[in-house]
Amino acid sequence: MANQKAKKFKENAARVAFDERHRKTIRFNMGKYYAAVAKGSARYQNREAARDRAAAIKRHTLEHLSEYLQQFEKNFTAHGGEVLWARTADDAIAYITEIFKENNVKSVVKSKSMTTEEIELNENLKKIGVESVETDLGEYIVQLAGEKPYHIVTPAMHKSKADVAELFNKHFGFPLESSAEEMTMLARAKLREKYLAADAGITGANFIVADKGAIAVTENEGNALMSTSFPKIQIAIAGIEKIIPSYKDLGLLWPHLAQNGTGQPITAYSSVFSGPKRANESHGPEKMYVILLDNGRTQLYKQDTFRVALSCIRCGACLNACPIYKNIGGYTYDTTYQGPIGTVISPHLRGFDQFAHLCSACSLCANCASVCPVRMPLNDLILENRKIAVEGGYFPKSEKPMIEGLTFFTKTANRMDCVGGGMKNAATKCLGKNFWGEKRDFPKFAKKSFRKMMK
Ligand code: SF4
Repeated sequence: MANQKAKKFKENAARVAFDERHRKTIRFNMGKYYAAVAKGSARYQNREAARDRAAAIKRHTLEHLSEYLQQFEKNFTAHGGEVLWARTADDAIAYITEIFKENNVKSVVKSKSMTTEEIELNENLKKIGVESVETDLGEYIVQLAGEKPYHIVTPAMHKSKADVAELFNKHFGFPLESSAEEMTMLARAKLREKYLAADAGITGANFIVADKGAIAVTENEGNALMSTSFPKIQIAIAGIEKIIPSYKDLGLLWPHLAQNGTGQPITAYSSVFSGPKRANESHGPEKMYVILLDNGRTQLYKQDTFRVALSCIRCGACLNACPIYKNIGGYTYDTTYQGPIGTVISPHLRGFDQFAHLCSACSLCANCASVCPVRMPLNDLILENRKIAVEGGYFPKSEKPMIEGLTFFTKTANRMDCVGGGMKNAATKCLGKNFWGEKRDFPKFAKKSFRKMMK
């Protein structure tokens, strides 16, 4: 199985990396992101200080994780909400199933949440006969296409305008030549019907605020607000790492997330939900639940080296900075979280036996770490994963003698010179074909080495 996953990864990586259409779409969409981020950076008086401060808040929170989570539970419960602790994805699904059965929920509107992707919520709701509709436009598009999010912030980044027009034409008979605005208006009209009819609304949480007993949600379309305003039941599903100590921390973290996620000063809608509607309020959900998800996170937490990985605010900047992600695309990873952060956490959350091969999908250029708003040492953590993978025997056994042979041969100039350039080129060609990919070449060796010519 593990080898199957690694094999599939290599095949897909090789295919996508040479798919020119994919490359063009990603370049176009990423180009817009880079321009927005560069412009946004100018708004910071001292961006490095903001990164230091954000990193300090997240590191401090991790040192006191259980205290802050319990503080959140106490304060949120005092507002009339209910906190449910889910050790696994199955636990989270069981809670939701129970709530839906108790309240006769048949339809759900959902705003974008990678945690719900992690627990495969839509697929599980389908099994119990509940319709779940994604309301974020990008998510709506990938749901219509029967796909998963391609990117943790921009789920439909791999689709061009023409791709979306084709999709809307197939599903709704909408004209192929429709403009982006017309397609957005169509999605808006379709979603309005769903908001009004939904029995429950589900969101994730960008931050869980301990002292306020609330969750903070950022978005650009108002769909999370709509998803939580009309239905009688509201459920938020959040990983335990989303906790922050104080409401005032949002002053830094909200714009910091927006800047690094999309290049915006702040997202169009930033909402704080602190429980069901109060007696004096005319609208809002009658019941609100927050499901705190572990699902392997405490495995990371227990390891001193990897605890820092729980600092992530899921801005997606490391994906956009990664030369591997840009070439092989989001789907090749076959994980909920892709790119550098996915490469770090996926083997721990879902098993090295399944995902050890991801550690090889890194050039160790460290561009990811240089952009991370919470200063996560992503490249170091990937290297640590490689160490675990090698020591745990998760890489093909044939690699070890090959690396040892190569090390022996290249260690001294005398050994390197014992064969001519022709032999060296034949050897690297064979190695390259078997281990480096057919479409990549090693640099050519000269017929005679420089050392020999000097002599
Ligand atoms: S690791 Fe850093 S750059 Fe990557 S998604 Fe998390 S916060 Fe953003």
